Amino acid sequence: MRCPWCGSTDDRVVDSRELEQGAAIRRRRECTACRSRFTTYERATEAGVVVLKRSGQREPFQREKIVAGVLAACKNRPVEEGSVQELVDMVEDIARTAGPEITSEQIGRAVLDRLRSLDEVASVRFASVYKGFEGVGDFARELGLLDSTGSESEGRTGEGQPGTEPDTTLAPEQEHAR
Ligand SMILES: [Zn+2]
Repeated sequence: MRCPWCGSTDDRVVDSRELEQGAAIRRRRECTACRSRFTTYERATEAGVVVLKRSGQREPFQREKIVAGVLAACKNRPVEEGSVQELVDMVEDIARTAGPEITSEQIGRAVLDRLRSLDEVASVRFASVYKGFEGVGDFARELGLLDSTGSESEGRTGEGQPGTEPDTTLAPEQEHAR
C-alpha cells in the first residue's frame, strides 16, 4: 500500500480490527520508510462510500482529500501529524458506518468538531476552505465559536471600519446557527 506521506510502498500492519460485524476490516499500517501511520479498509464488496456534494454531484469518498485539507489548515500550527491521522481515522470511521452515502456537509462538520479541539486556528482555516465562506455569517459563526470557548486567536482583520454595524447584520445568522 502506497504511503500517503512519502509514497513508499513498503509498510507493515500494526493493527487489524473488524468493523460492522466483520463486513469490513480496518488495518493500521506503518510506513517502514518514514514511519508515518495510515489506515486502510478492506471489504468483500467494493461498495465504497459515496460523498454527496453541495452541487448535487457524487464522488467516491477520498481519505487523502481530507488529510490534505486538514494538513493545509494545520500548516505552521502546533499540531502533530499523528493527531491529524487520528482525526481523519475517526472521520473515516464515521463515513464508513454512515455510508453508503454521506454528504460533504456531514464530513466537514465531523472534521470541524474534532479539529476544533486540536487547534482552533486550524479549525477556522479549515472552515474557510471547506465552506468557501459563502457568507460573512459563516465566518462570524466560526469566530463566535472561538469566542465562546474563551480563547482568542490570531489578530482579526476588518476591524476599525466605523461605518459598519456587524452586530445588527449578523444577529440573524447567529440565531440560524443553533
Ligand atoms: Zn512513508
